[in-house]
Amino acid sequence: MAKVVKFGGSSLASAEQFEKVGSIIRAEKERRFVVPSAPGKRFKEDTKVTDMLYECYDLAEKGQDFSKVLTDIRSRYDEIIKGLKLDLSLDDEFKTIEKNFKEKAGKDYAASRGEYLNGRVMANYLGFEFIDAAEVIFFDEDGTFDADKTNKILSKRLENMENAVVPGFYGSLPDGKVKTFSRGGSDITGSIVAKAIHADVYENWTDVSGILVTDPRIIENPQKIDTITYLELRELAYMGFSVLHEDAIFPVRVEGIPINIRNTNAPSDSGTWIVGSTAQKSKYTITGIAGKKGFCSVNIEKDMMNSEIGFGRKVLQAFEENNISFEHLPSGIDTMTVFVHQDEFMDKEQKVISAIQRMAKPDKIDIEADLALIAVVGRGMKSARGTAARIFSALAHSHINVRMIDQGSSEINIIIGVTNSDFEEAIRAIYNIFVETCL
Ligand code: ASP
Repeated sequence: MAKVVKFGGSSLASAEQFEKVGSIIRAEKERRFVVPSAPGKRFKEDTKVTDMLYECYDLAEKGQDFSKVLTDIRSRYDEIIKGLKLDLSLDDEFKTIEKNFKEKAGKDYAASRGEYLNGRVMANYLGFEFIDAAEVIFFDEDGTFDADKTNKILSKRLENMENAVVPGFYGSLPDGKVKTFSRGGSDITGSIVAKAIHADVYENWTDVSGILVTDPRIIENPQKIDTITYLELRELAYMGFSVLHEDAIFPVRVEGIPINIRNTNAPSDSGTWIVGSTAQKSKYTITGIAGKKGFCSVNIEKDMMNSEIGFGRKVLQAFEENNISFEHLPSGIDTMTVFVHQDEFMDKEQKVISAIQRMAKPDKIDIEADLALIAVVGRGMKSARGTAARIFSALAHSHINVRMIDQGSSEINIIIGVTNSDFEEAIRAIYNIFVETCL
């Protein structure tokens, strides 16, 4: 039995946090492979080491003096080393980093040092072997993650190992240069390591006790989700849930490895399980509610649109030619609506409209701005009668005008469009009808 345990930045921000992590790892011998992030914030106004590294490298790149920021970074690690009373010096590491910064080794190299150094400290603290992620995680020439090569080399390297620390967030390009994933990418490394060792579980330790049903900035202390499927999470992540990096789902998903989101500061909480499929019913019919503001709808009308072959293609081509992706596409017999991100669309608005006029020759086009989309997601909706009715009557009772409804063919989500100003109230209404009434 083997578990991969990934710890986020706030779980590793100080010696005290490291100690909590140490006891979590020692509590179960199955927790054999550890993926650390860089030290995060110790308090609200603090700066993440990754951000300090970006800042430091920025100075180096401009040929300016970066010694002060580098010293500040170093003291973050020294504070941890001292607090843990480790017999470890980072002298040589920092000499190399300074030299490489002067030689302009690259922004990704700079950012990756946060995880690299934390991995060194972690390996020393736990007495585990350290593996530099640059030797086992690979990207191809154009910077895309090379899953096949990585899996081959990484699984071979870990095959006969009892324990190891693999720093998160980075790997290397074919020419050996360091390359990072996008921000928050240590989650992806954890997932890749879990796949390589065929882990039983990928534990992702953070500072919340799991994924919440909705945004705590809108609902105070929302309920926690016990179990969510990869698909549901994907829908919610797309609409703004940000507990886990979106791309972290893919490596474990193909292997059917569950992810368990846990809280370093409350290790006995069971957290949230993210699984392929489950017979476990969501407590509240729905699993989660997410949403985003800032959409525009382009409403197109044309008599007999339904019988005109190629009409939809022509409309979409107008968006494609202007490099705008669309979000949703509800349609009626003689109407078609295209939802787009307002900030992407604004600059190109007139170009798109004239392209639609030219190619599709509609009778009328009008645009509505400042709309929000809300996704109500739940695997339970498929088999529960009346879910849509409950959503819409809750919205009606809250005097919210629904501008758009779209139910995906998977039947695990219903997307609702409302005006930006109704957004929070709409989420509250939906949360209340499904969750509050069940408590
Ligand atoms: N340290 C990196 C960041 O701040 C990666 C991570 O923490 O996952 O984005």
